[in-house]
Amino acid sequence: MTVEVKNLVRRFGATAALEGVSLSLDQGEFIALLGPSGSGKTTLLRILAGLDFPDAGEVRIAGADVAAVPARERGVGVVFQNYALFRHMSVAENVAFGLRVRPRRHRPAEVEIQRRVRELLELVQIPELARRYPDQISGGQRQRVALARALAIEPQLLLLDEPFGALDAQVRKDVRRWVRGLHERLGITSILVTHDQEEAMEMADRVAVMERGRIVQLDTPHALLQAPATAFVAGFLGEATRLPLCIEGGVARLAEFGLDDIHLELPDGEAVLFLRPHEVRIEPSQAGPAFIRFVRPEGSSRSRILAEVGGRIIEGTGGAGFARGDTCRIRLVSGTVFHGDGSSHRWERQGALATG
Ligand code: ADP
Ligand code: MG
Repeated sequence: MTVEVKNLVRRFGATAALEGVSLSLDQGEFIALLGPSGSGKTTLLRILAGLDFPDAGEVRIAGADVAAVPARERGVGVVFQNYALFRHMSVAENVAFGLRVRPRRHRPAEVEIQRRVRELLELVQIPELARRYPDQISGGQRQRVALARALAIEPQLLLLDEPFGALDAQVRKDVRRWVRGLHERLGITSILVTHDQEEAMEMADRVAVMERGRIVQLDTPHALLQAPATAFVAGFLGEATRLPLCIEGGVARLAEFGLDDIHLELPDGEAVLFLRPHEVRIEPSQAGPAFIRFVRPEGSSRSRILAEVGGRIIEGTGGAGFARGDTCRIRLVSGTVFHGDGSSHRWERQGALATG
């Protein structure tokens, strides 16, 4: 099922939760809405589900304008963070709920409902839990029940709002891979809301980065990391050190950070340099000027390192054999510069060796 949203605006008093959001999804696509708390993710999802309504703009699902279509007739499955299972209902009753509340003429016969529930519990791999109650199963299992319940109405569009928040780290990884697999097997279209970039990058075909009620960039995970459109996106995604620069006569002087100057053919003015850890080389140096704050081994011959220089922490990579407190030197190899005039540029130190 395709989804198309145009110029959505939603205000709550003086707060604009959505300020002109446009988005379109192909059939079978998996998109993540990623952004900090308060950026409008849940509001967008609720409008798609028919649980909230925009002040302006258009929502089309499978080509049809759904402005006047109530939530339960949209054929959309929704899973929220606190997937609120009904505690007084068994797992099977929870899953059957969406079918049992249908108006009589749309409601399947009881045997049919039971058959569907069995099928769904098989699909989410917990058929043996049908008679248990929510407080008799684990968090991961409750998450599967919530999904089965959302899928019971055979939605073509699945909306997930921070659905893994209550799970611990390992279960969370397993469940999200499994959900992505399920999305593929069923051939549905899915939208996942999350503030966890790793989750968005791993699960989604494309990621929409939201900031203050707007989508600031919509791209594949790879493209977002390679070519962030704004300093906000660069800072929000991946790990990066952010260095403020002052460019004068084509040079940004970094001596105050204990670093070599960098040459940039950009107009004079303020800028910000974003450095990914692999763009920063940490090398041993008896004389400093930097020293090692934290070391995390990565494989047998590399380390991820936080180094401190001039009161500033810079994240980079180096060889094995560094220890906390050692002195070192920092070489910047490449980075992304966001100039105060709104333009962005890649910078590479001339003669820099390929980064590894
Ligand atoms: P997110 O899911 O990205 O954290 P939300 O969509 O929940 O963000 O909220 C976006 C903005 O709209 C926030 O500033 C929030 O406080 C505001 N907001 C959301 N829902 C309501 C509401 N029902 N009443 C008033 N303000 C709201
Ligand atoms: Mg939210």
